[in-house]
Amino acid sequence: MERQTVTGKWLGMLWDDYLNTIWRDWKGKLGEKDRLDEPQWLKQWLAEHRFPDLPYPDARELAELKQFRSLLLRIVRTLINGEKIGSEDLIAFNAVLAEGLITRQLGGDAEEWKLEYVPLQSNWKQVMADIAADFAAKMADGEPGRLRICDNPDCLWVYYDETRNRSKRYCDDKLCGNLMKVRRHRARKKAEEQR
Ligand SMILES: [Zn+2]
Repeated sequence: MERQTVTGKWLGMLWDDYLNTIWRDWKGKLGEKDRLDEPQWLKQWLAEHRFPDLPYPDARELAELKQFRSLLLRIVRTLINGEKIGSEDLIAFNAVLAEGLITRQLGGDAEEWKLEYVPLQSNWKQVMADIAADFAAKMADGEPGRLRICDNPDCLWVYYDETRNRSKRYCDDKLCGNLMKVRRHRARKKAEEQR
């Protein structure tokens, strides 16, 4: 079932997109930067996900946004390790969810009726709650065992492995996959030369 708000927003690709707001140079040269610190980028991101156009978060809101992102990443890592989410983390996660205010309505038309979720407030708490809801829905309907973090240590892109045999080790086989193959090859060659 599609989870939509009255604006028709897809609550999909939201949680992983949010976790990947820490941008890293997958080639390992330019380091990393935090997209949440870039007002222009954040404005664009809100628009892409059809969130309302919110003012750039104040210091407290920005700290909360980053804290929530750390929490979500910790939960993802816990699930990747096949462990149980700690009770403190679960309480903190549910507290973020609880800050979201929504109501439901029957939308669409006779062609296709839809159960729509309508946000009742327009602020960063609602954005965080929507991201949390998107992740919760994915874990409830999907398989936590498909959560992945790219094996390239310079990349660490977070994604959900949709492949049939659950074998996706890199965010992108052509980019990170090839890079790691080249690195392994070089390391092997170096080791052989040192013999
Ligand atoms: Zn990668």
